[in-house]
Amino acid sequence: MPRPIQALIHPDALAHNLARARACAPGAKVWAVVKANAYGHGIERAYPGLQGADGFALLDLAEAERIRALGWRGPILLLEGCFEPRDLEVCSRLNIWHVVHCNEQIDWLATHKTTWPHRVFLKLNTGMNRLGFTPGAFRTAWMRLSGLTQVDEISLITHFSDADTDTGIEHQVAAFNAATEGLPGERSLANSAAVLRFAAARPDVRGDWVRPGILVYGSSPDFPVRTIADWNLRPAMTLRSRVIGVQQLQPGDTVGYGSTFRADARTRIGVVACGYADGYPRHCGTGTPVLVDGVRTRLVGRVSMDMITVDLTPVPQAGLGSEVTLWGHGPRGSLLPIDEVAQAAGTVGYELMCAVAPRVPVAVQ
Ligand code: PLP
Repeated sequence: MPRPIQALIHPDALAHNLARARACAPGAKVWAVVKANAYGHGIERAYPGLQGADGFALLDLAEAERIRALGWRGPILLLEGCFEPRDLEVCSRLNIWHVVHCNEQIDWLATHKTTWPHRVFLKLNTGMNRLGFTPGAFRTAWMRLSGLTQVDEISLITHFSDADTDTGIEHQVAAFNAATEGLPGERSLANSAAVLRFAAARPDVRGDWVRPGILVYGSSPDFPVRTIADWNLRPAMTLRSRVIGVQQLQPGDTVGYGSTFRADARTRIGVVACGYADGYPRHCGTGTPVLVDGVRTRLVGRVSMDMITVDLTPVPQAGLGSEVTLWGHGPRGSLLPIDEVAQAAGTVGYELMCAVAPRVPVAVQ
């Protein structure tokens, strides 16, 4: 029998979350952001739940080709554009739209002839300061692109750095509106946080295309201010395992490496087949929430490579073989949001879902 750890991907949850994005951005088209192998869920496994999207946004041409291979004929957008001139040929052949964020990418379009013309999203840097033209250089870039026969449509795009805060987008929206005023073309600004927090009331944030990623996978972009329950989102991934050993600690006994947990009373401990080599964060310590047989309890001691130890006190009936939910959906409707585990590790849900190790078997449910 294989080790009992398993990741489950839930297409119904993906479809539900995508519908939430659509409801928050009425009239806008929705890119499902599926970069990083659909945030660790697996593009092929996530695809059936994401059929309601208007397009797929990602970074990697190989991932774009995988989506085309699944039969998707609609829009695909490369969020970082081409990495070298010959990427243009693949974009042309597979009809993949791409971001243009620097002059070199315009040079490539000017000199590298392809069979079919390109639809590009010209990126404005409104304050994130990663990719994109400054407001001062934006119109010149637009003019250059509009003079190329290789380019048949230009859309306008920017990316928010602080959409999880109440006022964090205002300076970027103002910069976007000023720099793009009067220019034709579709607009795209909003990531998950902006979709959930602002898109319903703000046409200028909504634009023509929204780009939700993390919300689609059932993690709250502004946790702990708001949880997935507040946003009516559902976890699209469950990580689960089983109790493979039980220990009875006496007062004063410790558990695991470094003896970081010391029992102050008799305590039953469940040993669970899940460790940092499975992608469970080693930074989780005593107190990290975990479900045993659907009942909420806590991790105790350090996370090892292949095992964690959990307090069975709230689950007296638990024993060898009991189901353990590390995050996601547990038995009898129980739920452990990935955001709570991420918080205990000092990180975000994004990192945990992307880090599930290749050795963990994955099923669709
Ligand atoms: N748009 C761009 C350009 C991105 O880089 C990302 C992800 O970082 C997204 C949209 C989706 O962001 P989120 O997952 O926060 O919704």
